[in-house]
Amino acid sequence: MSDPIIREIIDSEEIDPEFVDLLVEAGADRIRTCIQCGTCSSVCPSGRRTAFRTRELMRKAILGLKDEVLSSPDLWLCATCLTCLERCPRQIKTTDAIIILRNIAVAQGYMLPQHRKASMKLLETGHAVPIDEANMKKRKDLGLKEIPPTVHSHKKSLKEVQKIMKKTGFKALIEGTSKGAQQ
Ligand code: SF4
Ligand code: SF4
Repeated sequence: MSDPIIREIIDSEEIDPEFVDLLVEAGADRIRTCIQCGTCSSVCPSGRRTAFRTRELMRKAILGLKDEVLSSPDLWLCATCLTCLERCPRQIKTTDAIIILRNIAVAQGYMLPQHRKASMKLLETGHAVPIDEANMKKRKDLGLKEIPPTVHSHKKSLKEVQKIMKKTGFKALIEGTSKGAQQ
């Protein structure tokens, strides 16, 4: 005899009933009309190669499983190709909803380590991928100046980039010191 099916019960404390309202207010206005048809998952190029399921993400977001959705690394597997948004029979702005979820996630301190690392590089050097010795040599071989005419050679501009990152709150976000991240 096969093993019995185990009922999965969601703890009510895991549910934030106002979460979907937050998403709707931010622009995911038709998300509540999702019929779980699965079209979004079936056309998703990312879902073909990973465990990411757009339909499941929409369902969990509608149910209000806020922490589970925001802390899931799967949230970052979407390539924002917009295919699901074009095909959704309910015309739900699925990709917009994912971007909204990402914005909320980062504001609350959920950031992938690799994103944080690239952002720190941006803060320190003005580039998410700063030039290295190998690329400096390639530039020299091509007859270019070793250091490109970017913030690498304009230290004053780097100060401006850092000022923008501070004023916009991005610095606090990546350092995990923003108000939302401390909640
Ligand atoms: S395609 Fe649209 S209606 Fe269908 S599961 Fe995805 S979001 Fe829901
Ligand atoms: S926008 Fe994202 S979720 Fe939608 S099909 Fe493209 S990769 Fe998948």
